[in-house]
Amino acid sequence: MPKRNVPEGTAPEPKGRSLSALREAAEDCKRCDLWKHATQTVFGEGPARARIVVVGEQPGDKEDLAGHPFVGPAGQLFDKALDELGIDRRQVYVTNAVKHFKFEQRGKVRLHKSPNPGEQRACRLWLEGELARIKPEVVVCLGAIAARNVLGTKFKLMQQRGQWIELPSGARAIATVHPSFVLRQRDSASREREWRGFVADLSALLD
Ligand code: SF4
Repeated sequence: MPKRNVPEGTAPEPKGRSLSALREAAEDCKRCDLWKHATQTVFGEGPARARIVVVGEQPGDKEDLAGHPFVGPAGQLFDKALDELGIDRRQVYVTNAVKHFKFEQRGKVRLHKSPNPGEQRACRLWLEGELARIKPEVVVCLGAIAARNVLGTKFKLMQQRGQWIELPSGARAIATVHPSFVLRQRDSASREREWRGFVADLSALLD
């Protein structure tokens, strides 16, 4: 729940350099309009000294209500991939490029809408703040929006997925599709094919 009276278009300064101070400041962010309809800011979660940071696009319906990232169907599929690779999810910090849920109301259903470039730009200070504080060795981008925010707007997900790229910080980054892309496949053969590709991209984390 927001605690501070923050003017629209701004965000409060964190009260200190820690990740928890950053998280607390983000609760009251109004740098773009997405806070107006979402339930709450959904900040990243995981160890403050995680070796691996995973970046998705934005919280979904379930995450918005729960206040935690990666708890909906796409997050569960991601957990399954980590499980298959033998990577302990508790050691991984998970977050999103944009911290509020953007949606279109259709009857009782809230349909996901992608954040526009201005919203992504406004929100980038939180992701940059998380990466600067955690200093991970590895950043995993799930989906084109996460990849563009970490790797730049020229990054082409479908051509460059699964390839290691060095970031200015010295960390290595890799991108793959968002798990919701796997879930959206129309038939079981396509879903299986995309699932295998997703796990194969993530298996680079075992190198
Ligand atoms: S989406 Fe990001 S920039 Fe926009 S209000 Fe939420 S936290 Fe702030």
